[in-house]
Amino acid sequence: MTHDVINPATEKVVRSIELASVEDTDAAIARAAEAFKTWRAVAPADRGRLLRRFADAVDADLDNLAQLEVENAGHTIGNARWEAGNVRDVLTYYSAAPERLFGRQIPVAGGIDLTFAEPLGVVGIIVPWNFPMPIAGWGFAPALAAGNTVVLKPAELTPLTAIRLGELALEAGLPPGVLEIVPGAGTVVGQRFVTHPAVRKVVFTGSTGVGKQIMAGCADQVKRVTLELGGKSANIVFADSDLAKAAAQAPYGVFDNAGQDCCARSRILVERSAYGKFLELLEPAVKAFKVGDPSDPATEMGPLISAQQRERVAAYTQQDVAFTGTAPEGPGYWFPPTVLTPAPDSAALKDEIFGPVVAVVPFEDEADALRIANDSEYGLSGSIWTRDVGRALRVGRGVEAGNLSINSHSSVRYSTPFGGYKQSGLGRELGPDALDAFTETKNIFISTED
Ligand code: NAD
Repeated sequence: MTHDVINPATEKVVRSIELASVEDTDAAIARAAEAFKTWRAVAPADRGRLLRRFADAVDADLDNLAQLEVENAGHTIGNARWEAGNVRDVLTYYSAAPERLFGRQIPVAGGIDLTFAEPLGVVGIIVPWNFPMPIAGWGFAPALAAGNTVVLKPAELTPLTAIRLGELALEAGLPPGVLEIVPGAGTVVGQRFVTHPAVRKVVFTGSTGVGKQIMAGCADQVKRVTLELGGKSANIVFADSDLAKAAAQAPYGVFDNAGQDCCARSRILVERSAYGKFLELLEPAVKAFKVGDPSDPATEMGPLISAQQRERVAAYTQQDVAFTGTAPEGPGYWFPPTVLTPAPDSAALKDEIFGPVVAVVPFEDEADALRIANDSEYGLSGSIWTRDVGRALRVGRGVEAGNLSINSHSSVRYSTPFGGYKQSGLGRELGPDALDAFTETKNIFISTED
């Protein structure tokens, strides 16, 4: 079976991709299981060196990878270049890990006690369409560094960069089978990662609904699982903040990648005394947001990923629209940045819309801000704008979310942990401890008695 990859900015077919069957998936898992026997035994410094060569190969191919993502996912060229660079940087960061995969020596009576961080085996990584390159890298770089081999399934809509990354791994000298890219349907390839006994862990990034099915499926074999799921993050703006800056930055916190971002600050909570002024300042920033040809370096937002996604998003903008930005006419899945001022019980404040739509609501005081921010099944990220350091930390500690930023909208740095509270996920990726999620702790006691 084949799948036509569509350019979402033109609606033209970019390439036709062969989709893997269950048999193809089993063959890829078998190759990865075979490769594990030797990969785990590669000397730590050599494994690190190979990951650095892989990073160099990604760097040398950066323009090509970025161009592929512009065509396949409609990402702006600026974002796509950052995303390819992120794969390079994550590989470089974890290339130092094999030589630092320390165990411990624990004082006990009658001998010596040692712990080892052992690789799991074959790790299955399931990637969504919204950030195909970074999310793949956040999984495979620490997994490979820890001595595992990887089977990776890109989303049906966006397989091109993952396929290229697989080729680059081989060109860089990673042995065949160490990183297997398996394009195919979630219900075929992804599901097989869950049921195949040789796959010892599943790393899933995607919707909360599918994540729950994966977790339930993994229970059958007590399979390890990391989940990175949806979000409905709050951007909390206090009246004492630099309001002009908060309003100018707010569009970037939600409309980046056309709002198809699990960290999108899609609810803006504004202290009531500043609410009117904030909306006044927000309107020109939204209207000036540059939506258009993603290959133009000046563009800030491209199209949505598909016609289906555009329909989903449009269903939320039938009412409560305060103002919108602009979007091109003609072919392409375009949608203008849209600001809603909905009632407190509106679905636009509860559901992850996954499009360039933001809801702005007022709050009374700190306690009210926390009540609204935490009134969500999600808890991935969020922002707090205030000049009061004590308040920033109080509110930051009070928001039930894994990644918060004060007076900015940054969520992801490869050297810091990333992941969600509540139904936004399970486990953490990135940061100094990422290899914990790709290893088992083994304890060995050596008797020193005669
Ligand atoms: P999705 O859940 O539909 O698909 C994600 C991946 O899972 C795809 O590769 C898909 O083929 C596969 N899949 C689908 N059904 C499956 C099944 N039954 N078994 C195994 N695999 C299956 O999600 P999507 O629409 O591609 O991505 C958007 C979602 O991803 C949003 O909810 C977004 O918030 C979330 N997301 C979360 C993070 C995070 O880090 N928390 C990052 C990016 C995206």
